[in-house]
Amino acid sequence: MYFKQVVLLLAQEGLVTLKQVYTDGTKIESVAGRYTFVWGNAIKTRKEKMMQQLEEMWEYAQSIADEEDQDPTPPDFKKVDKEKVEKTAQKINKILKGNDKASSKAKAKARYIVKNFAANLEKYEQQKEALGNRNSYSKTDPDATFMRMKEDHMKNGQLKPGYNVQISSEDQFIVNYTLHQDTNDIHTLKPHLERYEYLYQNAPESLTADAGYGSQENFELLSNKGIHAYVKFNTFDKEQNVAGKKRKKTPFHRDTLHYNEKEDHYVCPMGQRMDKISENTKATKSGYKQTYSKYRAQNCMGCPIRGACFKGKSNRIVERNHILEQYTKSQGSPII
Ligand code: SF4
Repeated sequence: MYFKQVVLLLAQEGLVTLKQVYTDGTKIESVAGRYTFVWGNAIKTRKEKMMQQLEEMWEYAQSIADEEDQDPTPPDFKKVDKEKVEKTAQKINKILKGNDKASSKAKAKARYIVKNFAANLEKYEQQKEALGNRNSYSKTDPDATFMRMKEDHMKNGQLKPGYNVQISSEDQFIVNYTLHQDTNDIHTLKPHLERYEYLYQNAPESLTADAGYGSQENFELLSNKGIHAYVKFNTFDKEQNVAGKKRKKTPFHRDTLHYNEKEDHYVCPMGQRMDKISENTKATKSGYKQTYSKYRAQNCMGCPIRGACFKGKSNRIVERNHILEQYTKSQGSPII
């Protein structure tokens, strides 16, 4: 592990402390060609289409089959494997072959199914395995995922096979790097920090990163590790104006509505109580669960300031994620 030894040498010389890290990611292009893609959605569609054709052919064969070939229990075309497809295709072909009621087109299709469908299914299964949790990979570099690259000098920000490299630095020295197949930085922080801890047997004291990392899941991760988070929450940039100054929130903005924590309700600008009407949990891509609560005003009909308050037709509803708000309010400090 030369990388680790060099970094530890830098620490020994007092050039890095391994306490404050600055993390960001960039996409690097694979040497694979950009037209070598395999898409998860395309595999799914092709497989479904193939099974639909097999089912249609099965029904057709059954409709013209002699009594001894009739099968009242059709195969489950939703749950298939190579052997099942092979067996079904052979059965269809046997019924159609030499059957005067079958058209020559149908017979040719049955022969095509026997020759190709089982092999195609096997190929799709292998491709699915190569995909893992991704939606794409390159045929010539199966580890590479198709990602939107930064614009080149011709302003082309195309999808190309590549990797998402995460780098942590301190005083311009790289102290940690990890390579990811996930195109979104938000999901890379956990494995990136795990490698940091593996290398140096300790987490950094603080971590600075942009809004691409500002999720509840990441705030919780940093908080649990006792890492001081200088991470913008994901709507931070939206809340800034062009001059970089904080946009002033109106009294109607959901963040400025008064919240009565004890009784768990909001108060709207007209003084109306907004009671909680629902609470639901949504899971992120990684399975992390976030809870959202909805609060509704009692009666917005005829409210004189309605035009400035909201645009909906019924009573105003606001959705809040209290835990995320707590993290964004306590920016920088782990929540104990
Ligand atoms: S429109 Fe509804 S929520 Fe908005 S201030 Fe009026 S009563 Fe309150």
